[in-house]
Amino acid sequence: MYDIIIIGAGIAGATFASKISKYAKTLLIEALDYKKEIPIRTNIFPEHNRPFIKEEIDWDDKNIFPSLHTKSNYMSDEFNGVIDSTEFGIPLGNICYTENLLDKLISQFEEQGGIFNSNEQISRINRHIDYLELINSKGESYNTKLLALATGSRGFDLQRSLGFDIPDHYTGALIHLFGNEDKINENLEYNYVFHINPKISVNGPFFFNKGKERILTGFLGGKNDPKEVILDKLDRILKNYKHIQPFIDGLKYDISTTVVGEISKHPINSFSKDRVLVLGEAAGIVTAFFYEGLLPGVACAEIGTNTLKPLLEIDSKFSRLELSKYDQEIKRVLFPYFKNGNALEYLIYNEGSHVKSLWRLYTELLSENKLARKYIYEAYINQDLSTHNTSNDRYVGEKWFGKLPALSKITLSPKFFRAMLL
Ligand SMILES: Cc1cc2nc3c(=O)[nH]c(=O)nc-3n(C[C@H](O)[C@H](O)[C@H](O)COP(=O)(O)OP(=O)(O)OC[C@H]3O[C@@H](n4cnc5c(N)ncnc54)[C@H](O)[C@@H]3O)c2cc1C
Repeated sequence: MYDIIIIGAGIAGATFASKISKYAKTLLIEALDYKKEIPIRTNIFPEHNRPFIKEEIDWDDKNIFPSLHTKSNYMSDEFNGVIDSTEFGIPLGNICYTENLLDKLISQFEEQGGIFNSNEQISRINRHIDYLELINSKGESYNTKLLALATGSRGFDLQRSLGFDIPDHYTGALIHLFGNEDKINENLEYNYVFHINPKISVNGPFFFNKGKERILTGFLGGKNDPKEVILDKLDRILKNYKHIQPFIDGLKYDISTTVVGEISKHPINSFSKDRVLVLGEAAGIVTAFFYEGLLPGVACAEIGTNTLKPLLEIDSKFSRLELSKYDQEIKRVLFPYFKNGNALEYLIYNEGSHVKSLWRLYTELLSENKLARKYIYEAYINQDLSTHNTSNDRYVGEKWFGKLPALSKITLSPKFFRAMLL
């Protein structure tokens, strides 16, 4: 009998495993074959993630964080809305080689006595009165007092079978481009580019995350977009889309290595039930506009650990009531910051004919208004997101609205008003 079994060794499950194994007999199960290879990912890892992982990870570890994140470009067809941290102070965060981060977290977990089974898929879960029974695809079973589902967007059947809702999910495509460090720096001065073009997607950005000798690029598309359509679109964008050609010039890539997968957002109603917690993207805890999923992964891990520590000491039954603190804390800590993404999502991710010009005005605003840039900078580096200042977001919203032509002001004022209430 395990105290805790975690299904899924993405950022949420691996961080949680590393934290909770100090206090509980823990098994971590991952469907992918991590012993062969942890899939490479180049992600942005903002400074505001740091408090949730500071005990596990050295912020200066260059194997995990090969470069500082100093420049983001919120880019339209006309303007570069650049947030340059040197204008205000410390870096916006780090660029993360997430496969190395996961590797480190899992090693720590194993050093603390945790057991890691990779290349193993859990296919069924049976509830018993005082434990849960997990059955893998080979028919082997494990028993646990508490289950943590950290299955991202790949475990919806299990999630449903335990009575949880599943979040909204969208299809995304990502691919790595490779080159030497000098060429990559010559092509792309920004660590992160976030570009909106409704012709590419009405549900998400085209983005670039710049590593040292590799760049992750791709876009986040619609619900249930077929894989072939997504792949074909990415291929055409990389070959023809003029705004991004300078960034990818001379870099090598193989379109067949594109990963097409789901990404979820819009948090489900409840993140816990008797003896079960749901962590990270599986619970839809991903910011609705920028699709930040690493922050919620590490935050859920920290909050889950803090919730469970005292319960493990009293040999608790992990009732829903006892676990509800987990839900409350996630909402308290993350949701003030999530509001900003909800408002931007509402204004930008829709079929409206105004979207392109609205995004253009937003990027123009950032390029000319220092205070708007400062507020975004502050959100990147905030060490306590529960204190996220929504009046700063309102300031940016008002200035943005102020830039609209008179006629658009009339038609879009209800939308802006509603966005402020989300
Ligand atoms: C294109 C793209 C770019 C992104 N860039 C960023 C970024 O730069 N910064 C950022 O903060 N966020 C980014 N995100 C979001 C972020 O990467 C994800 O939200 C986050 O990694 C999700 O972590 P997770 O641990 O919740 O789930 P996952 O990473 O999806 O992990 C879930 C794991 O569970 C395993 N699993 C599922 N079912 C089972 C089962 N039945 N048995 C065993 N194992 C199972 C899966 O194999 C998987 O490894 C990006 C997302 C996309 C799509």
